[in-house]
Amino acid sequence: MSMIRLGPAGNCDGNILLSLMRLKNELGLQAQEVEFTFGVMMSNGTAEKVGELRKKLGLELSVHAPYYINLSSEDKEKVRRSFSWLLLSCERGHYMGAKDVVFHPGFYSKRNPDKVFDVVLSNIKEVQDKIKIKGWDVRLSPETTGKSSAFGSFDEVLRLVKDAKCGFCVDFAHLYARQQGKIDFAEVLDKLKKFKHVHSHFSGIQFTDKGERNHLNIGDGGPSFKSLAEELLRRDIDITIICESPSTWADSLRMKEVFQGLGYKF
Ligand SMILES: [Zn+2]
Repeated sequence: MSMIRLGPAGNCDGNILLSLMRLKNELGLQAQEVEFTFGVMMSNGTAEKVGELRKKLGLELSVHAPYYINLSSEDKEKVRRSFSWLLLSCERGHYMGAKDVVFHPGFYSKRNPDKVFDVVLSNIKEVQDKIKIKGWDVRLSPETTGKSSAFGSFDEVLRLVKDAKCGFCVDFAHLYARQQGKIDFAEVLDKLKKFKHVHSHFSGIQFTDKGERNHLNIGDGGPSFKSLAEELLRRDIDITIICESPSTWADSLRMKEVFQGLGYKF
């Protein structure tokens, strides 16, 4: 039987401490992704307080690093800045007890995908070395991206995991958009079942021939959450599903209802 944890991307209340209490006590959810997508605006001191509360409540946290990180750039200055944003995210993650530090790896910029893969791989390894020296208990988790111009197909991310021994984040809506409205959950989950833990994102999504356009509420277009839930319950997977729809916590509850409707007990 699969182990499922659900929760929103970002706070479901005025600040993160209130959010964690509401998640646990009112909404009955199990996880939250802390959004540093527009910058790392949290001190280590606050991160430590968040970590203590997280532990007390038995919640799982992850971090989403800034959107503007680019580990595939040929511009050395851009890569250097990306390293520092990623490392700041990892440092806060460490103090919060958040394991997965999710980030979008970069862009092809009309280059050969295999060449881009090598650049991203070597940059991930460099950041991993820095994390090791600092002793932070986090893992870099490159995300599957939704635009065809963005590096990060499902296969590319799985290759990174194999070669860098890093984590990963599977965004089911991004896979759906990248594949022009198609996703075979059975096939995707079969490739994931060998991992001890799967970190993932879900939302509705709108796409064009270039892939992702924007995220939607669940049920307003995009992959079927019920199909994903059914396939998950047929397997034995330990998975966290973070809701990235515009209604993050309300849709997290919808996801919970779908699982409960299928007989899963949280
Ligand atoms: Zn995502």
